[in-house]
Amino acid sequence: MGHLTVPAWPRPAQNALSNVQAVLASGRWSVPGNWQGHPSAEARFATHFADFLGAPHCVPTMNGTAALVVALEALDVGAGDEVIVPGLTWVANASTVLAVNATPVMVDIDPATLCASPAAIEAAITDRTRAIVVVHLFSSVADLDAILTISKRYGIPVIEDCSHAHGASWRGRRVGTWGVVGTFSMQEKKLLTAGEGGAVVCQSDDLHDRLYQLRSDGRRAAVRPTEGESELVADCSVAGTNYCMSEFCAAVLDAQLEALPEQNRCRAENAATVDKLLDEVSGITPVQALPSVTERTYYQYAARLDREAFAGVTAATVARALTAETGLPFQTPYPPMYRHPLYQPRTKRRFLIEGRDPDLLESPADGLPEAERAHLEVLTLHHPALLAPDGAFEALPAAIEKLQQEAGSLRVLESAGK
Ligand SMILES: *Cc1c(COP(=O)(O)O)cnc(C)c1O
Repeated sequence: MGHLTVPAWPRPAQNALSNVQAVLASGRWSVPGNWQGHPSAEARFATHFADFLGAPHCVPTMNGTAALVVALEALDVGAGDEVIVPGLTWVANASTVLAVNATPVMVDIDPATLCASPAAIEAAITDRTRAIVVVHLFSSVADLDAILTISKRYGIPVIEDCSHAHGASWRGRRVGTWGVVGTFSMQEKKLLTAGEGGAVVCQSDDLHDRLYQLRSDGRRAAVRPTEGESELVADCSVAGTNYCMSEFCAAVLDAQLEALPEQNRCRAENAATVDKLLDEVSGITPVQALPSVTERTYYQYAARLDREAFAGVTAATVARALTAETGLPFQTPYPPMYRHPLYQPRTKRRFLIEGRDPDLLESPADGLPEAERAHLEVLTLHHPALLAPDGAFEALPAAIEKLQQEAGSLRVLESAGK
């Protein structure tokens, strides 16, 4: 069987190098650097990214983790508060809540989207809930209508973490603009990247000012900056931290953003091809988008196995065998977050906040059965594979059928721990 060479990622966009060279020569390499008579690369990227999303404001940050921290801080989340987060996501969604001394409350997922279940969110609300963090996971958009209805009913703001969904739309409007705040990561694996990077978008002017200051040590932009002096001025209204994006990072992102729509289009086309090919075989079902998703992005293509069709082996075993067979680098979703090896809150003394219920940090009372099931049943395919040329996926149905026929031997391998 012909093996696919997965296209390289990250992929430098056309203007990335010239943009970086322009920053090198500019005399300004950082947000607190000296005003050169024109907006910084960071401010230009903020404008372009906000325009791309249709958001009134954007504040770039050094990474997606910092974006989540300033989003939580801007909403005044702190000690004693609870924040609802999905149980199936990257560990940053828990660690950032801990970082502001609040308690992450993990909720189970909707098996249809793999995103937080609206019913589970509502059931987890207490007097202490101060925010709901929604993650648009893999190639899904969470059920925003249901979640925003709950948000309104209880008066609890929604933070949309769009780190997997740069450019996805719900009812014709980009994700990140539905919640009070939207956050993004531009880390190397993401759809839009400069190696590291992040951004926060919001609707309100006040929130924008707070977010701006929270990421630049409390400083704000001078109204009339002086050439050769820092654009930032001291302001004693907000205690911030330095989470600024460097000018080099912003210069690369500005170029990468120009390439994003075409890359997203290519990924969506290939994903549609994979959908069709998987339709030809039994035992595997692509994760579908909800009907309100008007533009779908693919950070990870995701499909669910009927494990019975594979002699009961786990998705991890199928992923390994299917990768060996086709060259397509299949993986499995994260383990439920409370079981994730990187989630170890009790190793840090600063997490021992007086009044915090330590049991809440450990694990949800009834576990997270749908997140557990997704970990065992779902196959994912990282997006660079979806930038492959036409025909790259033709071998998939035959490979899946072959694995089903040979599932007995997969099972022997799995039992032997191989
Ligand atoms: C990548 C990611 C983050 C963290 O972003 P960094 O830029 O790595 O700090 C946060 N949330 C989700 C869902 C992510 O995938």
